[in-house]
Amino acid sequence: MKPRILILGAGFGGLELSTSLSEAMGENIDVTLIDKSDGFVFGFSKLDLLFGRSPEEMIRNPYSDYAKPGVRLLRETITAIDAEAKRVTTDKTVHEADILVIALGADYDVSSTPGIVMGVNEFYSVAGAAHLAKVLPRFQGGDVVVGVCGAPYKCPPAPAECALMMHDYVKARGLDGATRITLVNPLPSPVPPSPDTSKAILAAFKERGITFIPSTRVMAVEGKTVALDNGSTLPCDLFLGVPKNRAADVVVAAGLTESGWVPVDPYTLQTRHPGVYAVGDLANTGVPKAGVYAEGAARAVAANIISQLRNEEQTARNPGAGSCYIEFGADRIARVDVDFLSGPKPFGTFHGASQALRVDKEHFGSSRRARWFGRQAGGGNRQI
Ligand SMILES: Cc1cc2nc3c(=O)[nH]c(=O)nc-3n(C[C@H](O)[C@H](O)[C@H](O)COP(=O)(O)OP(=O)(O)OC[C@H]3O[C@@H](n4cnc5c(N)ncnc54)[C@H](O)[C@@H]3O)c2cc1C
Repeated sequence: MKPRILILGAGFGGLELSTSLSEAMGENIDVTLIDKSDGFVFGFSKLDLLFGRSPEEMIRNPYSDYAKPGVRLLRETITAIDAEAKRVTTDKTVHEADILVIALGADYDVSSTPGIVMGVNEFYSVAGAAHLAKVLPRFQGGDVVVGVCGAPYKCPPAPAECALMMHDYVKARGLDGATRITLVNPLPSPVPPSPDTSKAILAAFKERGITFIPSTRVMAVEGKTVALDNGSTLPCDLFLGVPKNRAADVVVAAGLTESGWVPVDPYTLQTRHPGVYAVGDLANTGVPKAGVYAEGAARAVAANIISQLRNEEQTARNPGAGSCYIEFGADRIARVDVDFLSGPKPFGTFHGASQALRVDKEHFGSSRRARWFGRQAGGGNRQI
């Protein structure tokens, strides 16, 4: 009997984990990967959707293209997780596992921020980015607030990217003179672990007249006013919001969270339940919530599962290091490499904005698309 490996969530973490396991073990492994969606969307594609660079159908990577030996991908919605028993209930059936990996990402909570509505005035969901993409052409200038409703949130530089891309957008329409852009962020600087990156972003803001309000979060959106947690308000004709992030309800209901996130050993991603791991945005590792870090964690978990199956010592460690690409406007991209776990404190290296780095970013996306969704020769693959 092959040990049954159950992976919940086919996002950045789940896709890399299942691909790594399949690559190493082929048909000698029994992996079930479950996701409720019909396809995977890169986080950064939501910015492309928002600003009209890519239509919705182009950013979705259908799970029907996923085919890996030893892996079965099921389209089901997880409704309950019993971590102790490694038993998972979905809208269709009950799954029992020997090894359970929870990679359900971060969900959104708008209940504590009156006026922010999923799919309407936020760009962190596909529906929200798609809706705002239709609103933007009607914008005729005024006050734009890019507002973050709580930290931690996915991809710390994304709100700054949104502000810079918004500036490009209004400039292209000749509305820059009539538009004021403000970014409200609970973080003290745009990218706290890399002062050089923050400095470059703040310089780009200054050049474009974008106002940055640090260490502050949005409390409510009321008509044409945004209320902040420092007691002040901002005028707002267009709100581009980042909703409060939190672990999904099903993870909270399973009793797996503390202060909203799943506590894990940051190096092995093991939860307090033996044989149960949490990978990606929902895990509290001290590393930012970004795909590149979810991917590194997934590779470490895959390596340790493979060692376990081969009766070898489990020595893989989550690197907690990765590169994030930052849209800087004017078709240029910057990159920051941040290592969170190998030294006494996080350390970042900034690579200034250039057009050459756009090629790198495109490769980052296309290489994952090829690795996870490229059709491979060989039979025996089971799909949705
Ligand atoms: C605007 C924006 C820009 C970003 N830019 C970048 C970037 O440039 N670089 C970068 O590295 N990261 C970026 N990110 C962050 C990145 O998208 C996430 O950090 C990453 O996807 C996290 O991976 P994950 O595997 O933890 O979760 P996810 O990729 O979110 O996957 C979780 C999966 O679980 C599934 N799921 C959830 N609940 C259930 C359920 N009950 N039943 C079944 N399935 C369920 C979901 O459908 C989803 O497929 C960005 C995010 C945003 C919003």
